[in-house]
Amino acid sequence: MATLPAASDLPLATPIAELSGVTGRMVGPLKSLAIETLGDALAHLPLRYEDRRIIQGARHTRPGEVATVAGVVADPRVKERRGRVKGYFECLVVDAGGALPVRWYNQTYLAQHLTEGTPVVVHGRVDFVGGRPARLMMINPEHELSDGTTGAHVGRICPVYPLTRGIAQRTVRELLFHLAGRHAPAVPDHLPEPVRAAHDLPGRGEALLGLHRPPANADLDALNAFLSPYHRRLVFEELYFLQLALLWARQQRTTEGRPPYRTPPSLGARLIAALPFSLTGAQRRAVAEIEEELRRGAPMGRLLQGDVGSGKTLVALLACLRAVENGEQAALLVPTELLARQHLATVRALAEPLGLRVELLVGSLPARQRRSVEADLASGDAAITVGTHALFSDGVRFRRLGLVVVDEQHRFGVAQRLAMVEKGERPHLLAMTATPIPRTLALTLYGDLDLTLLDELPPGRQPVETVVRGEAARARLYDGVRRQVEAGHQAYFVYPTVDRETAESARSATRMAAELADGPFAGLRVGLVHGRMATEAREATMAAFTKGEIDILVATTVIEVGVDVANATVMVVEHAERFGLAQLHQLRGRVGRSTAPGYCVLMVGDDEEGEAAKKRLAILERTTDGFALAEADFAQRGPGEIAGLHQWGDTGLRFADPVRDRDTFIEARRAAATRLAKGITGDEVARAIKLWGDRLGLVEGG
Ligand code: ADP
Ligand code: MG
Repeated sequence: MATLPAASDLPLATPIAELSGVTGRMVGPLKSLAIETLGDALAHLPLRYEDRRIIQGARHTRPGEVATVAGVVADPRVKERRGRVKGYFECLVVDAGGALPVRWYNQTYLAQHLTEGTPVVVHGRVDFVGGRPARLMMINPEHELSDGTTGAHVGRICPVYPLTRGIAQRTVRELLFHLAGRHAPAVPDHLPEPVRAAHDLPGRGEALLGLHRPPANADLDALNAFLSPYHRRLVFEELYFLQLALLWARQQRTTEGRPPYRTPPSLGARLIAALPFSLTGAQRRAVAEIEEELRRGAPMGRLLQGDVGSGKTLVALLACLRAVENGEQAALLVPTELLARQHLATVRALAEPLGLRVELLVGSLPARQRRSVEADLASGDAAITVGTHALFSDGVRFRRLGLVVVDEQHRFGVAQRLAMVEKGERPHLLAMTATPIPRTLALTLYGDLDLTLLDELPPGRQPVETVVRGEAARARLYDGVRRQVEAGHQAYFVYPTVDRETAESARSATRMAAELADGPFAGLRVGLVHGRMATEAREATMAAFTKGEIDILVATTVIEVGVDVANATVMVVEHAERFGLAQLHQLRGRVGRSTAPGYCVLMVGDDEEGEAAKKRLAILERTTDGFALAEADFAQRGPGEIAGLHQWGDTGLRFADPVRDRDTFIEARRAAATRLAKGITGDEVARAIKLWGDRLGLVEGG
């Protein structure tokens, strides 16, 4: 743009407080918007754009219309507040053809700026306002002192930014208008020129400028869909460097040596012989694939993906045994203490008869016990350790960590996965997930891993019969649950919140546990677990449920992942409308874990939200295909809802949405692979790592 001042090439790391236009009062709120440097500011993208390009004649505005009018202030006056009547500032905006009355409620201070004759542009809704006769006027518009040709707020495609408390849209918009104008054009472009040219991408500076100051002829719809060439450029760059880092990490891994596991498997055979069932074909194939890789003499990096109940734990345990019989230790990392304790019980029951020490490391261990576990890890006495992220803590040292298993990988970030691997000498990594994810997302998050599929359930399993029901079905539901319990089975009732303070309308798990025990389930044993209970109490209840001493377990989503009680046959989810499809699929995976049929009842409210949810959740009645559900889950989100990815852990992606940007993603991955195959420069790898290193836990320069 010719009208821009000469670009200034301040480093992107320049603290925001040092930039002109930033006042001391802005620094705090900007920080809560994650804006601490010039680079952060430029990366703060608009949520949407409004069309304020066309300036209308003051006389030609119509009621109900949002218009932009440019003129000079005439007849300014202030009406002071009296009693309950709001005060306001009012004036006329006069242009060549006429005058438009404009009124700002509560903003009487505007009188100081908008004095008679001041050139101004206003943008807002025009409507009739009270009194007799009613007058056509513009109410509470955005305004700008200007000659009406250029400016931050009006007379252009106008960006609307995400905000936080203590800072106004006007302030953020004005700041970015100036920062982008001054600094964006000089922003360094790291994307190699041939890549940029081959994929027809604007330069980085051009993209940032276009996003904050779209040219008048830009495609407004594309901007609002996050699909403008400027958006595409940032998305491409992000995915390109992510893929470069992941593919490079993978290349490094496969070319690095490590001692292969040579001892013939014997512990595994003993374990399998002791099981009351035989492995499924899929489990056998997975074990063979893993075994082959463990013998290759390079660190394994593998994602074991299998639907809930497909028996991933056993596959993982067999891999752990290979590490142990080759003189190394194994660690099993899980997202919650509850799951850690459950896995501990499972693994101990199977591994202790083989003479192996299995330890637990979680945050809540008393200090003395923790020190003793840490000592066993350091000495190598602990063959297998089950734990939460406490396994990452600085004090934790293994004598020889050979294998890291990450269960429910989707609950962890990419960074955590890679950080864990740093605890050992190039340990093998087996990541497991039940949450099926769309292919592009899988490649985005696990581009450094190979995939093993566990696509078969143990024999005799029947699909969980799922229904979505409203309040009218409640009495019948209670009857059905009672019959299941009388037949010797158990049931879960899951609630989205813990207590009524957090959501007035939610059936509080605590309250409902009491009500169920006194009312419909009088005489049955009802237990309660939720995230705010003391660990011991929660554990005791879980243990009792596992042993069959509790018939009905009322719980919050703490039981969502991994809990394994084969005798439970009914899963009731209250306020199912508050859950995503993938999460509900996980929940229903808690039942139907034996040959007895499983039932899942998704209760939704009778209000509008509930009615809408019935349609959305109906797909769960029709299919148990986790992959189809994952795709549907994504499709149900609107474009731009990038934050919705949290279910899959912190992806670290700032601009890209693996579903919306599927095409760009495939392009970027291909470009990264081509680049890597051609022989990448050290500089480029360093850059990818610098960009992604913090987020991915890769070693600087490594
Ligand atoms: P997930 O893949 O969801 O983690 P689990 O590993 O918890 O599944 O296994 C689910 C249940 O299936 C467990 O009770 C486990 O003992 C049982 N199981 C695992 N493999 C088999 C098999 N081959 N035959 C029968 N039951 C199995
Ligand atoms: Mg599991």
